[in-house]
Amino acid sequence: MRKHVWIYLGVVVGLGVGGITGCYTVPVTGRTSMILVPQSEEFALGMQAYNDVRSNTPLSRDTALISRVQRIGSRLAAASDAPTWAWEFAVFEEQTPNAWCLPGGKVGVYSGLMRYVYTDGELATVLAHEIGHAVARHGAERMSQQMIVAAGGAIVAGSVSDKNVEVAKVAYGIGSELFVMLPYSRKQEYEADEIGLIYMARAGYDPREAVTFWERFRQLSQGRNMPEWFSTHPADEKRVARLRELMPRALAEYQRVTGKP
Ligand SMILES: [Zn+2]
Repeated sequence: MRKHVWIYLGVVVGLGVGGITGCYTVPVTGRTSMILVPQSEEFALGMQAYNDVRSNTPLSRDTALISRVQRIGSRLAAASDAPTWAWEFAVFEEQTPNAWCLPGGKVGVYSGLMRYVYTDGELATVLAHEIGHAVARHGAERMSQQMIVAAGGAIVAGSVSDKNVEVAKVAYGIGSELFVMLPYSRKQEYEADEIGLIYMARAGYDPREAVTFWERFRQLSQGRNMPEWFSTHPADEKRVARLRELMPRALAEYQRVTGKP
């Protein structure tokens, strides 16, 4: 791990930004992104970050919630563009509302999220959005940017491998003791919404529930500071409007799969 990190940094420094690329075509949207992290490394970091959280955060004992998350998550995973990942869905006993999906298919839901999410369709909205970030390799895209920053020496001191796991955690929305929680870029947020909407529909969840979910949060968050996941996922008119624009494609997918109008 240690050696690899320095090789990346060396490559970034040596060739300069934009000199070399790993081009990745994002499923569903078809956008091309520049990613400097090999997917194998991304999976290894994802696994390490997942084990790290599991050893530091208590797991929920709410068997009904655990099986609900696993049932909905598995349906979405099977409908995604990465059905062969080693998917795992863990529910953590943690009051902060949060949910994330790491590369390789390790998904975490914090019990505090359930204060805000009511129906299966709403939970599917959040999970499909997070799965969208992972399948689109948004964390790797951010890590590629972080590596460019790291090459300039801006990352805090610490052992290289630990630091890289911390970077991966932040890059996939877990938060970390070393770094503040970073929101994804607006472009990545919209892309995860789009991918999530299609995955929901393919998994047989009514994509219109995504609109009611975000619309409720748009009203709830007006003039208020929202906690954690909701603070990095601002619900505004533009977000809801974009989801409505995407609805015809999502509904066509939903009707094809379920036969329902
Ligand atoms: Zn997001």
